[in-house]
Amino acid sequence: MAFVTPVVGRAAAVGGRPAPANRLCTRAPRGGVATASTRFVMVAAAEGGAPTNGAPLPASSGTAGIGDGGDGGALPGSSLDLDTTTGAVIRRKTRAVRVGNITIGDGNPVVVQSMINEDTLDVENATASIRALHEIGCEIVRVTCVSMAHAHAVGFIKEKLRAEYQDVPLVADVHHNGMRIAMEVAKHVDKVRINPGLYVFEKPKEGRTEYSTEEFNRLKDKLKTTLTPLVMTLKEQDKAMRIGVNHGSLAERMMFSYGDTPRGMVESAIECIEICRELDFHNLVISMKASKVPVMIAAYRQLALRMDALGYDYPIHLGVTEAGDGEYGRVKSSIGIGTLLGEGIGDTLRVSLTESPMKEIPVCYGILQALNLRRTMTEWVACPSCGRTLFDLEDVLADVRTATKHLDKLDPPISISVLGCIVNGPGEMADADYGYVGSKAGYITLYRRKEVMRTVPQEQGVQALVDLLKADGVWLEPPVEVEVAA
Ligand code: SF4
Repeated sequence: MAFVTPVVGRAAAVGGRPAPANRLCTRAPRGGVATASTRFVMVAAAEGGAPTNGAPLPASSGTAGIGDGGDGGALPGSSLDLDTTTGAVIRRKTRAVRVGNITIGDGNPVVVQSMINEDTLDVENATASIRALHEIGCEIVRVTCVSMAHAHAVGFIKEKLRAEYQDVPLVADVHHNGMRIAMEVAKHVDKVRINPGLYVFEKPKEGRTEYSTEEFNRLKDKLKTTLTPLVMTLKEQDKAMRIGVNHGSLAERMMFSYGDTPRGMVESAIECIEICRELDFHNLVISMKASKVPVMIAAYRQLALRMDALGYDYPIHLGVTEAGDGEYGRVKSSIGIGTLLGEGIGDTLRVSLTESPMKEIPVCYGILQALNLRRTMTEWVACPSCGRTLFDLEDVLADVRTATKHLDKLDPPISISVLGCIVNGPGEMADADYGYVGSKAGYITLYRRKEVMRTVPQEQGVQALVDLLKADGVWLEPPVEVEVAA
């Protein structure tokens, strides 16, 4: 089944012309001329399309092409509905992959990750940053490892964490032709992340117009030769590997064979997965990051379809790479990651912000809480207010939040609905544990779910809510503020 995904952006194009829908590209230049109407073309291997350079489709391509997934096009593992009993997202079934004391996949809570931005050689500060991230809920921490000296430094960091704090699950990122470094750092970390486009890297040839089957296969063989020792050492140590494909660093041979497309990203990952499977190594997590949200979503969807069609149940690591900072960085990350999680795809995530990594963690948990995948914060369900509102909703919500925000330490945290009037009240109350509702001018009514508890003058409302929470045993005393002398 051929299909075209309407994604505007970098194109599988020749000289600015969209590639034909029924064949693979011979040339997919980065920075090729793309117009606002240019679209990515999802090439249909299922129709028998083959690279025009004659490079064979991977044996694993089979007949399960992108888009049909062998199941008529349904999204993987999900009925695109909710569990009718719990209201939970139906998640794609995946195997368990252990990373230190954390397990990714197999129905475990979606794992939150981040990455420090200290130089790994700065053992003191790198260790402090890892610890700080872990203390606020980052469950797996990634460090970069660009040289053998960095690989040794990671060993010192791990020892220091164990001695001064506790063992923290660590992932090392290795880079260009990083096999020897990966082998060393694998001794010290719980997971190694490779980027297939860089792990075997040859500088793209200037002016190249075609890629021969021989060249394609030579680099494929080189990938297998260099990946095998790493896989074997990870297997011996029962550690994990992330096959982390990035749109921005897709190997040249993949772009020639499949276009600069989500499909090319998926093929790159599948090629590595096949090598690991031949070695009977399955501690794999796969990612398909891109900075363009539609590309990222398409790549992950295709990956999940493809793996499901092949019977591969490897967990998926989600992320929008280079999302930027501030509000827009958070919006991009939430849309990309949230869309996929809502479809049941994804077992772990990282929000990549151009800010302190400490600021990524609340965004991760916010995305997970919004999708009801993890509940780690007090949730306030508040209406936007309108002409019917019976009090100043912004002020009242701020007062309720101030009085209850520390209750995120409850397990599970509670949800409180703050509504300006009762018009939607009964329905909204069913989705919250408690309700604080404008009932008539100057009065609020407190609810426990749909049950009316009491109506009090507005100025007594917050205290009455606190009293109700105390009486129900869902209360913690707020932390004592320590005054610092001026
Ligand atoms: S709950 Fe009432 S006050 Fe709030 S937006 Fe709806 S109608 Fe307006």
